[in-house]
Amino acid sequence: MLKRCGRRLLLALAGALLACLLVLTADPPPPAVPAERGRRALRSLAGPSGAATAPGLEAAAAAPGAPVREVHSLSEYFSLLTRSRRDAGPPPGGAPRPADGRPRPPVEPLAPRDVFIAVKTTRKFHRARLDLLLETWISRHEEMTFIFTDGEDEALARRAGHVVNTNCSAAHSRQALSCKMAVEYDRFIESGRKWFCHVDDDNYVNVRALLRLLGSYPHTQDVYLGKPSLDRPIQATERVSENTVRPVHFWFATGGAGFCISRGLALKMSPWASGGHFVSTAERIRLPDDCTVGYIVEALLGVPLLRCGLFHSHLENLQQVPASELHEQVTLSYGMFENKRNAVHIKGPFSVEADPSRFRSIHCHLYPDTPWCPRTAIF
Ligand code: UDP
Ligand code: MN
Repeated sequence: MLKRCGRRLLLALAGALLACLLVLTADPPPPAVPAERGRRALRSLAGPSGAATAPGLEAAAAAPGAPVREVHSLSEYFSLLTRSRRDAGPPPGGAPRPADGRPRPPVEPLAPRDVFIAVKTTRKFHRARLDLLLETWISRHEEMTFIFTDGEDEALARRAGHVVNTNCSAAHSRQALSCKMAVEYDRFIESGRKWFCHVDDDNYVNVRALLRLLGSYPHTQDVYLGKPSLDRPIQATERVSENTVRPVHFWFATGGAGFCISRGLALKMSPWASGGHFVSTAERIRLPDDCTVGYIVEALLGVPLLRCGLFHSHLENLQQVPASELHEQVTLSYGMFENKRNAVHIKGPFSVEADPSRFRSIHCHLYPDTPWCPRTAIF
């Protein structure tokens, strides 16, 4: 009797064990994370601000043909960045990451003389582009603005306060553009001012918003503010010696949207940026001037770019900038986007034919007391 019971118990146990095994092996594996979701999460983790942008202001489209590569793992990204940081010494304490355009408390009141705005231009655009800027935003902020060009122009010298002839080549080549940025950097250092900002000659600068933004950061700390045009770090090949190269990843603020650098950080950039070093640094990675700034700041100094949705280039859809939020935007632009004319959407007082860039209309919106603005302007 006892023997039979024991056998039955043994059989029951064996059956239960088999059933358990069957349940365990038949259980489906946990669903895989879709590749795109994983990548997006990685991008936002690797990104300078967790991809935070002001509502309605999407990150700009990737520049066509830009040499970018998918980052396959977070450790790959960080090991590349930390390798560069190790080479440059310990990373300095930077300002906190996100700078997404949301209001920040002021930390330092700024006067116009504290800021150096470099406008990059070229001889052939003096009439076509620069005159519009001189008529609009520059007319209100002569003291802050320095025009960097490549050819003498008496008419321009008469009209504008600070014109710097860089004597760089007038070509749109990498070397010529780096040559101009090198002169911009040196002139800023000489000026003793607190902030360096760079813009192109197709940018409108809303100086009140710019001063508000810069006044919310201490200029003595490491601050690099702007907006990337790519949605991931750029990959470059860094030449470290005669026959050694290595890959390097970093974020950079697109020059066409404008960017700003605190004096504290600019001084640290000196070994790679001053007195002609900028041009040789640009050669080391063979990328344009704005990428070279990102390389020095992010990759060599280990200071992260602070992404700010208030800077705008024509590589993004400018129609998405709400007219009601123009007062807060720091830079605007005009040009082409996906083969279409691209400008801020703002009603009057000038028609699109009379004011295709919309800069005159924007200026009258921001400075209605301007003598040439129609008094009855309706926006
Ligand atoms: N630029 C220059 N030399 C040139 C062509 C352009 O310094 O030979 C400047 C131009 O004045 C502007 C910037 O480079 O400030 C960007 O030029 P553009 O807007 O024509 O080109 P993008 O890169 O925006 O397509
Ligand atoms: Mn442009």
